[in-house]
Amino acid sequence: MFGSISETQKAILSGDIKCVDVVDHFLQKIDEKKHLNAFLTVTREQAYDAAKKQDKLVSSYGRAVLERLPLLGVVVSYKDLFLTKGVRTTAGSRVLESYIPTYSATIVERSHTSGMIMIGKTNCDAWAHGASGENSDFGPTLNPHNNEFVPGGSSSGSAVSVAAGLSHVSFGTDTGGSVRQPANFCGIYGLKPTYGAVSRYGVVAMASSLDCVGVFSGYLGDCKKVFDVVRGTDGRDATLKNGGFHIGRKPVIGVPDEYFSEDVDPVVLENVMQALEVFKGGGYKVKRVKLPSTKYAISVYYIVQPAEVSSNLARYDGIRFGESREMFGLEAKRRIVLGTFVLSSGYYDEYYKKASKVRTLIINEFDEAFKSVDVLISPVSPSTPFRIGEKSADPLKMYLSDILTVPANIAGIPALSVPFGRYKEFPLGFQLMGPKFSEEILFEVAGDFERMTDYKFIPV
Ligand code: GLN
Repeated sequence: MFGSISETQKAILSGDIKCVDVVDHFLQKIDEKKHLNAFLTVTREQAYDAAKKQDKLVSSYGRAVLERLPLLGVVVSYKDLFLTKGVRTTAGSRVLESYIPTYSATIVERSHTSGMIMIGKTNCDAWAHGASGENSDFGPTLNPHNNEFVPGGSSSGSAVSVAAGLSHVSFGTDTGGSVRQPANFCGIYGLKPTYGAVSRYGVVAMASSLDCVGVFSGYLGDCKKVFDVVRGTDGRDATLKNGGFHIGRKPVIGVPDEYFSEDVDPVVLENVMQALEVFKGGGYKVKRVKLPSTKYAISVYYIVQPAEVSSNLARYDGIRFGESREMFGLEAKRRIVLGTFVLSSGYYDEYYKKASKVRTLIINEFDEAFKSVDVLISPVSPSTPFRIGEKSADPLKMYLSDILTVPANIAGIPALSVPFGRYKEFPLGFQLMGPKFSEEILFEVAGDFERMTDYKFIPV
């Protein structure tokens, strides 16, 4: 009854439950799973208010309410990087511990006008810097499958919110993998759309040429529904474009050799190979492709990203927003220093300019690959979830968690984390990447896979 969006809406419209019951259900789960530290703020009152209003509309208009509120009764959480009018927004950092925004992000507005009900703001690595959820100033988020392990990051609380059944869906941000990697570690879908497909207006900026707003869901259909509501131009984010296409035949799947290297845990590789067998069995054509510059992607990312971080974080000078710049944690400081260095005169050409050139190479290689295949399949994270504390003292080790996800950000292409398989108590999965604005194709391929494997989402 509280499973997918369509199940929930069916129960509401048939009168079996009210929107208030949906909110009750998720709030109770949030209380039960408090130890996971997935939420920084729970918006109990607002959720009940919104649900009561919707219940009135349902009793006046019946089914027709869906024309006005297509996502009626859908309970959503937001990474604490999305500005929510009147509701504290911390970006996971003490700097913004008591910051109350005066306006909401476009995606928040669009979610609410389509009928979604906000249940709270989720924990995340401070400023979205991290791959484990341990770098939050409000304590780590725990993996619901085993509490001694990380859920992935930086959108840690959002992934846990969906995987543990604390909300139907959640919004995160993905600059280098922060939606796909935690989705992978928690066993749910995670979409990083095309760069410029979803507005970043009202989102705390990390690295503006890479930042994307992404969606977490347990059910593939829900991911698509939510994406469709928030995508598209809003006149407030200049990078936005409307786009999308179909190909009218079975997509050809590309297997990039470089993503199947010895840096990837054999358990993870073996599982992706099994997924590939499922596709082959389903009549998909599979082709090997080469993306030779993949090996430079992480270096490019750790030049371009800190450079942009250093300019974006300059606004938190303690005067306009937040408490004091002294509250910045170690990781943010590391990136500010690194970014300022690669942009400094004398080093700009050697680092930033060179990285920009290699970025173009990576983009060109993807373009070339997409001439012969429609989508690419790869692992998401090179490892299964790691223990809390295992990588937190070694930034380089932590950075390498993103080797397979950053290329899509560098090229601005869409990518989807698909849950499939298990290793011990942990879920596994794979990544599908496609050319810009190919989200429909990614959904189509993942949907076909879901049917072929008879996949069912069960919250932990
Ligand atoms: N883990 C990567 C980083 O630390 C990606 C973060 C993100 O996508 N926000 O930069």
